Amino acid sequence: MSFLPFTRPAIDEETITGVAEVLRSGWITSGPQVKAFEAALSKLCGGRPVRALNSGTAALEIGLELAGVGAGDEVITTPLSWVATANVIVQAGARPVFVDVDPATRNIDLAKMEAAIGPRTKALLPVYLAGLPVDLDRLYSIAASRKLRVLEDAAQAFGSSWRGTAIGARGDLVAFSFHANKNITTAEGGAIVLPSESDVAPCEKLRLQGVTRSGEDGMEVDVAGGKFNLTDVAARIGLGQLPRLAEFTAKRRALARRYFARFDRSLGCGLPPEDFENSNWHMFQVVLPERFPRAQFIARMREAGIGVGVHYPAIHLFALYRRLGFREGQFPNAERIGRAIATLPLFPAMESADVDRVCDAAAKILSKAHA
Ligand SMILES: *Cc1c(COP(=O)(O)O)cnc(C)c1O
Repeated sequence: MSFLPFTRPAIDEETITGVAEVLRSGWITSGPQVKAFEAALSKLCGGRPVRALNSGTAALEIGLELAGVGAGDEVITTPLSWVATANVIVQAGARPVFVDVDPATRNIDLAKMEAAIGPRTKALLPVYLAGLPVDLDRLYSIAASRKLRVLEDAAQAFGSSWRGTAIGARGDLVAFSFHANKNITTAEGGAIVLPSESDVAPCEKLRLQGVTRSGEDGMEVDVAGGKFNLTDVAARIGLGQLPRLAEFTAKRRALARRYFARFDRSLGCGLPPEDFENSNWHMFQVVLPERFPRAQFIARMREAGIGVGVHYPAIHLFALYRRLGFREGQFPNAERIGRAIATLPLFPAMESADVDRVCDAAAKILSKAHA
């Protein structure tokens, strides 16, 4: 039986042909493909302005800058995310203020988030782990009443929605990632959804060295922008992916349903919330029983030909964040989940028989632990 990875991108032949055409065209960096990709993304985001970038991290960095986050500011976020979420806050010279997650959703606990708002708080940075959004109505009512900016880390939530509205189609700043493992990919890439047309010019400046066309020689630079533009090669991959978004999401949901039907609940694992309305099912993650070492589970699953991922260890326990003053015991839910969470295989090319195989292998490995 062939090895089943925890994820695998689905690039079709039409996309590969299209990429070859871009490569032969003579224009391979940012150009017409990027423009077309941005227009297609904007359409999916309710017509709001969207700019393509070379990573989701770039979208978070530019988002913080557009939100006016700088030295001395605090940004409230979750410790249970990819480390990029917190690193961008540190990079901006601001201080990450972590609050614990809700153990049911594994996302930032909005009541704790509200309680953590202080005089230095500038922005809220929620993460939609595994594609499950937080309660956006509540999030934005808190942000509005406390006059705070919101930067949504929707890196994993492209194709998710909140009560019928696509993530990105409402709200403040929204960051997406198109990394190879995400639901839609450009190999590496990302995008930012902007709240207003007036953010477009500042965003474009930050994207490419601060250059504008306003100067006397047709070029001016007034901010030290970065190098965050997407290539046409990558954008063409994205254009091949977008028409398949609905199909990918439907397939992921069907596979997740199969997991709920087949996963043995007597094993003592924590399962994700059964959300088939909002989540794009970026991942299917179980929290292993405390007594079972995760490394052993991953090794035994690998022996059975199945890849298992770890997303993610709690950020505040990394050396950098300990140096910033964080310590063990501050966010017990994130710490416990971060130690025991395991990402099971879930990607559009999988079949329900693959899910059954994963469930059978997990049951065999975890039930032996009882003996
Ligand atoms: C993938 C990811 C990012 C970063 O995206 P890149 O494209 O890898 O830079 C940020 N936050 C979360 C939650 C992610 O999953």
